[in-house]
Amino acid sequence: MDGISIEGLGKGFGGTRVLRGVSLAVAAGEFVALLGPSGCGKSTLLRCIAGIEQPDAGSIRIGGREVTGLRPSGRDVAMVFQSYALYPHLTVEENIAVPLAMRRLNAAQRLPFLGALLPGTRAARESITKDVRQAAGALGLGALLSRRPGQLSGGQRQRVALARAIVRRPTAFLMDEPLSNLDASLRVQTRREIVAIHKAAGVATVYVTHDQSEALTMADRVAVMQAGEILQIAPPAEIYANPQDLRVATFIGSPR
Ligand code: ADP
Ligand code: MG
Repeated sequence: MDGISIEGLGKGFGGTRVLRGVSLAVAAGEFVALLGPSGCGKSTLLRCIAGIEQPDAGSIRIGGREVTGLRPSGRDVAMVFQSYALYPHLTVEENIAVPLAMRRLNAAQRLPFLGALLPGTRAARESITKDVRQAAGALGLGALLSRRPGQLSGGQRQRVALARAIVRRPTAFLMDEPLSNLDASLRVQTRREIVAIHKAAGVATVYVTHDQSEALTMADRVAVMQAGEILQIAPPAEIYANPQDLRVATFIGSPR
């Protein structure tokens, strides 16, 4: 299994159980939306996959590798949050290059003798520039590379955050309500862009949202979550046509 595979994940805070034995498999190249009401545990599940939060029980495999217990930097994941921080003093191009520069830095720290060789070589710089321009191009940022975040619109800033996430070509791409700070018209356009990036990158994607129309229009499969459990996971049309649980039918059927 090349994508993401989660078995029996449990997580509590104090006396509250937030994840109650969640299992989920996302294939390489698949887009799964995690849909559920506020407070049901979506962000906690995503943070466990990213390694920002450690589960109390269960296991997580990414790219066929057991990663439970590993730090975020030890997993091949990229995450985009609802509120994303760009470096205000760096250009768009430099912001997108940060994860690539960090990766080289990590490698140099593990192998100190490389430190002197790696960051500055012409081949290394050219390879970073090429990857950065490709990611920027995929998000329509090609003409904005030398701007700073303060000179961009909210939608453009969010696209820089997305480009920064995909530039490393991660095995898992995790997004937590990435569009909730955008206005309605921009949200629909950015939906399409995210799906296009996902397709181009062929990466296992988990997309958290409480917005039904986002989940149903973007995802290959929708996982309906409530109170720390996944109630049903199926393609959007099937969730609508055949809800397997009264709680799914109630949530999907309720007007928004
Ligand atoms: P969602 O993303 O679906 O809105 P969350 O995963 O953020 O839900 O939160 C699920 C529940 O866990 C909520 O009741 C929230 O208050 C609680 N929770 C999340 N993170 C923490 C934390 N670090 N400490 C204590 N409680 C938390
Ligand atoms: Mg959340």
